[in-house]
Amino acid sequence: MKYILLLAVLFLLTSSPGNLNAQTTKGEKSEMQYLTETEKSIVSIASLTANGDLEKLRTALGVGLEAGLTVNEIKEILVQMYAYTGFPRSLNGINTFRAVLDERQKKGIKDTEGKTATPISGGDKYERGRKTLEKLTGEPQAKPAPGNGEFAPRIDAFLKEHLFADIFDSDVLNHRQREIATISALAAMDGVVPQLESHISIGMKAGLTADQLGEAFDLIETHIGRKQADIARQSLAKLSSYKPKDQLPTETSLLTDTVFPKGEKGPADWFTGTVYVQMLAPTTENNNFSIGNVTFEAGARSHWHTHPAGQTLLVTNGIGLYQEKGQPIRTIKKGEVVICDKNIEHWHGASPDSQMTHIAITNIKDGQGVTWLKPVTDKEYRGNKE
Ligand code: MN
Repeated sequence: MKYILLLAVLFLLTSSPGNLNAQTTKGEKSEMQYLTETEKSIVSIASLTANGDLEKLRTALGVGLEAGLTVNEIKEILVQMYAYTGFPRSLNGINTFRAVLDERQKKGIKDTEGKTATPISGGDKYERGRKTLEKLTGEPQAKPAPGNGEFAPRIDAFLKEHLFADIFDSDVLNHRQREIATISALAAMDGVVPQLESHISIGMKAGLTADQLGEAFDLIETHIGRKQADIARQSLAKLSSYKPKDQLPTETSLLTDTVFPKGEKGPADWFTGTVYVQMLAPTTENNNFSIGNVTFEAGARSHWHTHPAGQTLLVTNGIGLYQEKGQPIRTIKKGEVVICDKNIEHWHGASPDSQMTHIAITNIKDGQGVTWLKPVTDKEYRGNKE
């Protein structure tokens, strides 16, 4: 009997979540704001343009359009990238975007062009750029900039006239969006810590919180790798109250915070690593769904699976991962909600370094809540990195 209950709970848990990331209302912590879906897409597009991974960039561009970025907004991100990553990476990004749009057009998808930049009338371009930089940094900017600007006045002129006037004067993106793009590109690159740190400061002046930047660096970890993400996290910790991952609460303290019991170990046929499952509410005559509490220890995850009628996951503790087939791996954290559509092949589990607990609300169709598929390999779990 116990085992039957366990099975029921398990298939509730594993119903497939969708890619929607609704933000829950968090009574006790209403100041905590997450990046929006379009902002997360800016992180993905900028970082993958910077490191030149065009396969992943192609996916990220499609996700960005689906998340609501317009064609012109994405063009602006890719154009801005040339100032930080050079013409070759920027042009590769633009060509990849052309291919994505062509492909979508052939499929009959109509993407929104979006607004174009408001034209700027004349004036002293250097002065416009200098003023923009003053606004961004909140500090007076001498002409030329002391140090490198005095040593090489041409680079000072290019920075002011071109980057901070020509590019930043375009109002297709706001300064917050531009800083998300810049910080993400710099976080993806080696050897640019001083520039990254000055843009983290500017980004926080543009309204980005330390938590939001931490969330961006979690995405950098997924797209680019742990090493680059950790460098960025250290810079963020230096400039804010952000705590890098290795200072996150231990598994023990995370588990003592959970509301519902951990339950019993889930079967190896459905999970890799150690996973606990507790049935909270079974399917009844009135409730055509089941609710279970699932705890994944660090590194543990479900097998690939689908849900015939969809599933909703409420993350109640820790940091986990969620992936739909063909999409990038998403980081999911305490307080986040994942809505998974019916018949979408996916998996969910803990991140490599933290446990994750979610409540799974699984809809039932013809008595079925889940169809189990193959295990998630170590390589898939690492985002197909060696
Ligand atoms: Mn599922």
